[in-house]
Amino acid sequence: MNMADSGKAGMQTKLFSVYQILRERYGDLHWWPAKTPYEVMVGAILTQNTAWTNVDKALDNLRPDRLHAEIIARMPREELIDAIRPAGFFNQKSTYLKALTAWFAQYDYDAEAVRRHPLKQLRAELLATKGVGQETADDILLYAFNKPTFIVDAYTNRLLHRIPIEAGKNNTEIKTFCESQLPRSVELYNSFHALIVTNAKEHCRKRPLCNNCPLFDQCSKMGILF
Ligand code: SF4
Repeated sequence: MNMADSGKAGMQTKLFSVYQILRERYGDLHWWPAKTPYEVMVGAILTQNTAWTNVDKALDNLRPDRLHAEIIARMPREELIDAIRPAGFFNQKSTYLKALTAWFAQYDYDAEAVRRHPLKQLRAELLATKGVGQETADDILLYAFNKPTFIVDAYTNRLLHRIPIEAGKNNTEIKTFCESQLPRSVELYNSFHALIVTNAKEHCRKRPLCNNCPLFDQCSKMGILF
């Protein structure tokens, strides 16, 4: 699908305009930086409350021969903790990784088998897994299993609040709103989340750098926050 043409027929929502503007500036970004679905799952747990550079160090410790679900399922806890130490909260995260790996084992560690199940069921299963909250579940569903679920994180919240787009009071409401305003597309959700994060790092930081922000003309907060 041509992402630039993927707006709902006859409907150009403000949210979709934001997507188009960001895409024009940054291009068609695609995530996640991982080679396998299981690597996405591990990264989604390890990235909780830490920067990706630390996650990468932890993943490097597991590469090239230990970053496999069957191996992590059998790995002694101390060995796992030692490998993921750079990502911080390593005791907690080792528990979460074991729980998520046990969930994956129900599908024989087969990503295609997971994909055959409906999004709603998988999301409920993931949310019932220790250490998996809404953002982590949606990261995994979108990036590991290509399910069309919109990711709402702190960057999304901040951007929508600043423009503003009245999307809802909590992440569940914001997610429902965003999905109602956009075509249901894995490619679009993948690209949009990457664009929001990229713009949050380049411009829409806690202390925003509004000059030259691609959303300057759309945003009510530009100039006011300084
Ligand atoms: S103009 Fe400023 S506040 Fe608005 S989106 Fe850009 S960086 Fe954020």
